[in-house]
Amino acid sequence: MLQNILTFLLGSKHERDLKELVPIVQKINELEPEVMAYPDSRFAEKTAELRDRLAGGERLDSLLAEAYALVREAARRKLGERIFDVQLMGAVVLHKGRIVEMKTGEGKTLASVPAAYLNSLTQKGVHVVTVNDYLAERDANWMRPIYSLLGVTVGVILSQMDNDLRKEAYAKDITYGTNNEFGFDYLRDNMCWSPAEKVQRGHAYAIVDEIDNILIDEARTPLIISGMAEDDTFKFAEVNKLVDQLVEVAKDPETSEYPEGDAPTEGDFKLEEKNKRVTFTDQGMNHVESLLLKRGLIRDSLFTDQNFEYIHYFTQALRAHKLYAKDVDYVVQDGKVQIVDEFTGRILYGRRYSEGLHQAIEAKERIKIAQRNRTLATITFQNYFRMYSKLAGMTGTADTEAQEFAKIYNLDVVVIPTNRPVVRDDMDDVIYLTEDEKLQAICDGIAELHAKGQPVLVGTISIEKSERLSRMLVGRGVRHEVLNAKNHAREALIIADAGAQGSVTIATNMAGRGTDIKLGGNPEFRARKKAGTQASDEVLKKAMSEEYETWQSDYLDVKDQGGLHVLGTERHEARRIDNQLRGRSGRQGDPGSSRFYISLEDDLMRLFGGENIKGLMSRMGMKKGEPIVHPWLNKSIERAQKKVEERNFEVRKHLLEYDDVLNEQRKFIYQRRDEIISDPHLTERIISTGEEIFAEAFEAYRTSGDTPQGRVKTLLASLKESLLFEPEQSPSELAKMSLEDLNAVMRAGLRATIESKKAEIGEDILNGFIRFEYLRNIDSRWQDHLENLEALREAVYLRAYSQKNPLLEYKLEGFQIFDDMLYDIKTALAKKIFRVRIQQAPAGPATAAHPVGAVQASHSAMGQFAAGAGSATTAVSSSGSSSFGGNGRGAAAQPQQVQVKRAVPKVGRNDPCPCGSGKKYKYCHGR
Ligand code: ADP
Ligand code: MG
Repeated sequence: MLQNILTFLLGSKHERDLKELVPIVQKINELEPEVMAYPDSRFAEKTAELRDRLAGGERLDSLLAEAYALVREAARRKLGERIFDVQLMGAVVLHKGRIVEMKTGEGKTLASVPAAYLNSLTQKGVHVVTVNDYLAERDANWMRPIYSLLGVTVGVILSQMDNDLRKEAYAKDITYGTNNEFGFDYLRDNMCWSPAEKVQRGHAYAIVDEIDNILIDEARTPLIISGMAEDDTFKFAEVNKLVDQLVEVAKDPETSEYPEGDAPTEGDFKLEEKNKRVTFTDQGMNHVESLLLKRGLIRDSLFTDQNFEYIHYFTQALRAHKLYAKDVDYVVQDGKVQIVDEFTGRILYGRRYSEGLHQAIEAKERIKIAQRNRTLATITFQNYFRMYSKLAGMTGTADTEAQEFAKIYNLDVVVIPTNRPVVRDDMDDVIYLTEDEKLQAICDGIAELHAKGQPVLVGTISIEKSERLSRMLVGRGVRHEVLNAKNHAREALIIADAGAQGSVTIATNMAGRGTDIKLGGNPEFRARKKAGTQASDEVLKKAMSEEYETWQSDYLDVKDQGGLHVLGTERHEARRIDNQLRGRSGRQGDPGSSRFYISLEDDLMRLFGGENIKGLMSRMGMKKGEPIVHPWLNKSIERAQKKVEERNFEVRKHLLEYDDVLNEQRKFIYQRRDEIISDPHLTERIISTGEEIFAEAFEAYRTSGDTPQGRVKTLLASLKESLLFEPEQSPSELAKMSLEDLNAVMRAGLRATIESKKAEIGEDILNGFIRFEYLRNIDSRWQDHLENLEALREAVYLRAYSQKNPLLEYKLEGFQIFDDMLYDIKTALAKKIFRVRIQQAPAGPATAAHPVGAVQASHSAMGQFAAGAGSATTAVSSSGSSSFGGNGRGAAAQPQQVQVKRAVPKVGRNDPCPCGSGKKYKYCHGR
C-alpha cells in the first residue's frame, strides 16, 4: 500500500512532504494489533493517560502515533470504517498546522478526527470549522461515536442557539461549527459586559474544512454586526429650535475675555473656540430646564433620570450653531453634511462628527437627520482565523492557491494522493462562438446522456444560469433537479442522489458541497427519505437494508455506463472551482468523466481571454455553428483564469493590508475591554488619568510668567473646570508653596477626592459604576471609530491622484485618530468620575441611555467577477444573516458637573435582555 503511494508521486515538493509522513504512518500501523486487542473501556482510560503524560511534559508529537492508532481502531469499531493510510497522512498534516489537499470523497471528515482528538488532549479546545450549519451538525453527529468511545466530548454551534447552549458547546473538548458562527461569537464576546457572558474560551487550534472556500472565496467581505440606534432624531430637532434662546456670557469689551473669578456672570454659556467646547453656567442650566419645561419636553427637574441627557443635546446644538461654520468646518452637498479637513481644506467624504454633533449640525442646516444603522463590530475571516495559535485546513482543491495560503496565512499545502488512482476522463473543453449555440449543445448533450441512463451533474456559475438552463431542459422534457445553495439540508438529500441512474442535477458550484455523490445513488439518504424524519430506528434499519440491496445492482449499472459525468457550462474565474466541480466525479477509483463547455461570449472569455483566444480560434478555422476542441485552447483558457486568480489575490491582499490597521486597533481595544471587565480597582485608572490632566495644568503653571497669585488662580480655575476639583488649601497658601510641595499637595487632594467617593458608596459600587461608564464609552467611540476608518479609507483613495500612497496615508491617519480616541475615552471618563456624585449602583448595561434595537449579524458572499470596477457582475449569492437580542450601546451623554442618576430603560421583564445574552431580561440584567 505505502509503496503504491510512493510510486504515485507528482513532484519533488510533494515527494518530500510524503516521505516525511511515511515513517509516521508505519509507526501507527505497528501499534494496530495491540490496540485492536483493547476492550472498549480501555479507550477512555488511554485518553486519560495521554492527558497525564502531556501534563507531565511530553509533547503532542510524541503521543501522535498512539493517539492515531486509538482513533483508527475506534472508527473501525464504531463506524465500520478503517482509516486508510492516506487519511492518516492527512491527519498528520493537519496536526502540523498545514493545509492538506485530499480529493473529494477521500474521507476528510474522518481524516480530521485523529488530529482533533490529539489536539484536544491539551484541553484548550479544538474548533472544527465547516461551511454551513447542516455540515457542522452532520459531521459532529457522524463522528460522535468515535469521540465517545475515546472519552472526549463534542459540541456543535448552530446559528439559532442562545448563549447558554453556545457556552456549553464551547466548553466541550471539540466544537464543530461554521466560520460565521465562530467569527460572530468572537465579536459578540467582545461586546459583552462581564466575563461570565463570554462563550468562547480561546483560539488554540482550528481545523477548517473546505478551507479554500472560507479563506479565499468568502474572504472578500468581512463579518459585520450592526444595529440601529434608538431614534432620537426628534430630540435634535426640538433642541435645535430652542437653542437660539440661550445667551452667551458677555465678554469684557476691553480684553475680549469672559469675566473672571468672583465677578457675577450674566449669561447661559461660555465658548472655548480653540478646542471647540461649550460650558454652561448655573444660570444656563436653569434656563435650559425652563425651556424644556415650557416646551413640554420634560415634566420635572432637568437633573434627574433621563432628562439630564438633554444637556448633551444642548451642548451639541450650541457647538453646531456657535463653533462650527458652514463652508469653513463643513459643507453641505447633496443633502449631506461633509466635514472639511481643518489642515488641508479637503472634504472628508463620508466622515461623521461623533457623539451626536453631526446630527446637531444636520438639524441646524435643516436637512434630514440621519438615523443610522451602525456597525457595532466587524472582522474579516483572514484576521479571525489568524488568531488561532495553530490553524490547519483541508480541501479537495488548495494547490492552485498554495502561494496565497503561504503568503497570507503562512500555511503550507501538502497534497495527499488518493486512496485509489483517479480514472476519471477529463476531456478537453469544447468552445463555441456564441452562448446560444453553446446552450443548445449542452442541452443536446444532457438529453443524450439522460436517454442512455448515465447520471449527469451540470455545474453553473450562478443561480440565474442554472434557472435558464432548467427552463430549456423543461422545454425538452428532460427531468432534472436544480440546486442553488439555499437550503443546505434539502440540497444534501438531492445531491446525494446525483449519481443515481438517469439523474440530471443542475447546481451552482457551492451547492451541496460536502455531500458525497455515490454512484447508483445514496442508499442511506434514500432510506431516510423513504422512512421519513419521525421514523424509529427499527423502520429506518429495515428501509436501509432494502435500499442497500437495490443500490448494489444500481451501482454496477451506473459503473458500466461510465459513472458520473460532470458537465461544466462555463469556466469559473478560478481553476480551483472548476477542479472542485470535476472532483465530484471519479471518487474512490470510480469511473467518470468531465467536460467544460465554453463560448466566446462567456464573461471569462470576454473580459480576460482577450484577442489571444480569438486569434487562435480563427487560425484554426472556426466557423459558425461548429465547435472547436483543442488542447492549445485549454492552455489559453487556463492562462486567462490565472490572470483572474492573480487579480483576485491582489484584491484580497489589498483588503487585508487595510484591515491590518483595524485589526491591530481592534485587538488593542478588545484587550483593554477585557482588562476593564475584570479589574476590581478601576479607581486607580481614574486617579492616574486625573493626575495626567493635572500634570498638564501644572506644566502650564510652572512655565507661566504670571504673578504667584495669578498663576495659582489659573491653575485652580482649570482644575475646577476639568475635574471640579478644589483643594482644601486657600489660594494664598498654595501660592507660597514650592513647586514640589504644590505638586504633592494637589495630587494627594485628587486621590482623596476619589477615595472619599469610594468611602461614601463602597468600592464595589463605585467600581461597577466606572466599569459601566468605561465600557459604554469604549463601545460607542469604537463604533464611531469604525465609521471614521471606513470613511478614511474612501478618502485616501482619492489622494492616490495627488501622488500619495493611500495605504501609508491610511495607516498614519488611522493611528492618529485611534490615538485621539483613546485619549478622549480616558479623559472623558476621568472627568466624569471626578465630577459626578454617584448615588446608587448602576443596574448594568440595560441602563444605557440609548438602548439599541435588534442587532444584525451579517456576512454576504461575493459573486464571481464582482470585485473589480468595470467588470460584469454575474452572481451575487446568498447572504447569511441572523438576528439576536440587542447588544449595542448608543452614544453616551457628555459628562457635566451635576449629579447623575442612571436612567431606567424601557425593557419589559419578559423581553430578551439587551445585553444579548439571549436570556429574558428578568433573569439577566433585570435581576
Ligand atoms: P470528503 O470530505 O473528503 O469529500 P467525506 O468525509 O464526505 O469525504 O467521506 C466520503 C465517504 O467516504 C463517506 O461516505 C465516508 O463514509 C467514506 N469513507 C471515509 N473514510 C472511509 C474509510 N476509511 N473506509 C471506508 N469508507 C470511508
Ligand atoms: Mg468533506
